[in-house]
Amino acid sequence: MVQQNTPQSQQQAQFPPGVEIITVGGTGEVGRNMTAVRVDDDVFIFDMGLHMPNYIKFTDEDVSDLSKLNVDALRKAGAIPNDNSITHWRKHVKAIFLGHGHLDHIGAVPFISNNYHAPIIGSPYTIAVLKTMLRDEKIQLKNKLETLSPNGTRKITKNVTAEFVHVTHSIPQSVLVALHTKYGVILYATDFKFDNNPVLGKPPHYECLKRLGDQGVLITMVDALYVTRPGKMPSEVVAREMLRDAMLGVDNRGKALVITTFSSHIARLKSVLEFGKQTKRKILFMGRSLAKYALAAEEIDLFNFTKQGVEILKYGNQVRRKFREIMKRGKDKFLLVVTGHQGEPKSMLSKMVDRKFDFHFDSDDHVIFSSSVIPVEPNISYRKTIEQHLQHDGVRLYTDIHCSGHAAREDIREFFKLTRPRHMIPTHAEPNKVDSCIQLWKEMGQPPKNAHVLKAGQRLKVA
Ligand SMILES: [Zn+2]
Ligand SMILES: [Zn+2]
Repeated sequence: MVQQNTPQSQQQAQFPPGVEIITVGGTGEVGRNMTAVRVDDDVFIFDMGLHMPNYIKFTDEDVSDLSKLNVDALRKAGAIPNDNSITHWRKHVKAIFLGHGHLDHIGAVPFISNNYHAPIIGSPYTIAVLKTMLRDEKIQLKNKLETLSPNGTRKITKNVTAEFVHVTHSIPQSVLVALHTKYGVILYATDFKFDNNPVLGKPPHYECLKRLGDQGVLITMVDALYVTRPGKMPSEVVAREMLRDAMLGVDNRGKALVITTFSSHIARLKSVLEFGKQTKRKILFMGRSLAKYALAAEEIDLFNFTKQGVEILKYGNQVRRKFREIMKRGKDKFLLVVTGHQGEPKSMLSKMVDRKFDFHFDSDDHVIFSSSVIPVEPNISYRKTIEQHLQHDGVRLYTDIHCSGHAAREDIREFFKLTRPRHMIPTHAEPNKVDSCIQLWKEMGQPPKNAHVLKAGQRLKVA
C-alpha cells in the first residue's frame, strides 16, 4: 500500500515490525537516486546521487568550492535527494550502500551523508572514485568508507546481511545490493545490463541471482530506463567493433584524431587504448573527470593506463602546454581522448572548438563521439551546437559509437525470471517507462497489485 510520507517525531524509537521502503529520489525520474529501507528497527540506504540536469543548472555559475554550496538550496532545486522524507528514520540508519560509481548514484554523498551515523559501503572501484572526488574537493566525511568486493557478503546487524551481486554496466565493479532479512531478500537492482561478453571484467553472476530467487525475493527495485527497447541490449563488444572501424577502418593519416566518451567507462577507454596503439599515435587523456576515473582504476590495480603509455593530463596549465607541443610536432602524432561527449560548454572539446587553447581544427580532422546524446535539455542543444561548429571547420564526425549500459526489455524479463520477486518497484525511469515495466510484469503473469508505482518521497509497507 502506497502512502504519503508523514514524518513522525524523532524521539520515536520503536517501529512496527516489518519492511517499509521510502523512495527518497530516483523513481518516476532519472537521477538523484536514493532509497531507504526499514527492516524492523534498522534502516539501510541505497545510493545518494545527483540529478545531473538540475545540478548542472544549479551550478551553472562557476562553482570552485563544492563545500560552499547550500544543501537546502540544492534540495529545493531537485539537484540532490530530498532526504527530509526520512528524518524520522535518521538515527536508525545502519549502513549506506553504493551500487556503483556514477554521479547519479554517489554524487550527493558529500552533501548529505553526514546526516547519518553510518558507514558507506561500496565496491573497491566505487569507493576509490568517491575518495578521489572528496580529495579533489577537499571534503571530509564523518562516515567510515568501507569496501566490499563484488560477490562479497557482510553481516551489517544481528538480523541483516548484505550481499553484493556482480553485474555488468558502463562503469567497473557495479553491483546489485541484496539484503538478506527474515522477511526475505530485498534487492536493489539499478543500474545493470546483462552483458555476456564484457570487454572488462566478468559476465553477470546469474547463478547468484537464481539463488536469491530460490531463497525468496520479497521485493526488488529494478532499472527500467530501457524497458521500452525491445530485445537484449547489445554487448560492449559491439561498441568495441564500431570503435575499431571508426579509428582504424578509415584513412586518418596526417590528421587530428580526437575521441570523446564517458570518463567513467573504463572498458571503452581500454578499447580506445588498444586501437590507439595500432595507430602509433601518442595517447593523451585530457580533462579532470577523465583523470579522476582513470586514476581511480589505477589506484586499485583494476586497469593501468599510464603503464601502457597513456599520458593523463588533469590540470589546465598541463593541458595548455601540451596543446602547444601538439601543434608544433604535428596533430597526427597524437590521439586525443578528451572530455565533452555531451558538448558541455566547460569541457575540453568545447574549449578546443572555441579556440581557448593554442589549437585549432582543420578540414578533414576526425572527431569520434563514443557516446549517445543523453536525451534531455540542455544536452541536446549543446551537442547540436558543437557538431555545427565542428562541421563548419570541415571536421569529419563519427557519432553514436556506443552501446548503453542498461538492460533492455528482454534482459529485464530474464532478471524477473531468475529472481522471481514477489513485489516490484520500477526505478531510474520516467512515468511512461514505469508503466511499460508494469506491463511487462503483468505479461509475465505476476499479480498487478504487487507492482508499485512510487514517486520521490513516497513509502510502501511490504511485510
Ligand atoms: Zn544511474
Ligand atoms: Zn549507472
